[in-house]
Amino acid sequence: MAFESLTERLQNAFSKLRKKGKISESDLKSAMREIRLALLDADVNFTVVKNFVKTVRDKAIGADVLDGLNPTQQIVKIVNDELVKVMGDSAVGLNKSPKIPTIIMMVGLQGAGKTTTAGKLALKLKNEQKARPLMIAGDVYRPAAIDQLVQVGQQIDVPVFQLGTDVDPVEIVRQGLQKAQEENNDYVIIDTAGRLQIDEKLMDELSRIKDLAHPNEILLVVDAMTGQNAVNTAEGFNNQLDVTGIVLTKLDGDTRGGAALSIRAVTGKPIKFIGQGEKMKDLDVFHPDRMASRILG
Ligand code: GDP
Repeated sequence: MAFESLTERLQNAFSKLRKKGKISESDLKSAMREIRLALLDADVNFTVVKNFVKTVRDKAIGADVLDGLNPTQQIVKIVNDELVKVMGDSAVGLNKSPKIPTIIMMVGLQGAGKTTTAGKLALKLKNEQKARPLMIAGDVYRPAAIDQLVQVGQQIDVPVFQLGTDVDPVEIVRQGLQKAQEENNDYVIIDTAGRLQIDEKLMDELSRIKDLAHPNEILLVVDAMTGQNAVNTAEGFNNQLDVTGIVLTKLDGDTRGGAALSIRAVTGKPIKFIGQGEKMKDLDVFHPDRMASRILG
């Protein structure tokens, strides 16, 4: 992942300030204009950009950067702190159930990376917590989806519960949860159907699965490469399902950064994981401070 253009343009704005030594009001103003345009070109949500720039400007003025010592360093720090804040301050871990199994429901549009992420997460839990997850194949509309999850399961040696495509997904989940009880699985990861767009039928099905399974975690999987569409999708899913966290996939292919920088502020829900490649190992906990450092370069 590299938001090259954003990084370059922010660094450019800072280096112009640095050359000034002392910073006048108009220097600050033009720096803020450059930061604003850099964020908008990175496809960051308009309201998020507006608030961001206003906060940075107010803090810079409050910190007496005008005519002060090391003013550029101070501004870089203020921008860094605000980037961290807008992405959620600190890493947020998975919600865990007080008694096993912890139930995680994956939701998202088709192609966002749900099935892949279900496998990545299962592997992570297995490796890091010696967990014994069970995955449930709840996408009955795309026949290949079940095969795909079964293959992923084989690859990482995690069992997959499936009843083919002719059974109602709610019933599949009910039986899958029963199986997890019997087998003493400590995590259950439910893969659900996606569509190309949000529609009522899909939301109704996901709500029914939610009502039955009472998941500890509803992870919304969104494709970072789709920028503000990812943010709008997240708002749509969140309004219907009250998700508990977001997984931002395909950050390895995202050159702009708009989704990463907007989605927390717009939805109020934390980014918990980021997908950074197609391999099963390519899932990381999201750390806002590390991401801010990477953006500032
Ligand atoms: P689903 O329809 O939501 O279940 O999506 P899939 O899990 O089938 O993923 C769709 C495509 O995105 C697949 O080709 C995955 O390999 C790919 N994919 C998923 N996550 C990532 C990621 O973090 N990085 C990259 N580069 N590709 C990903």
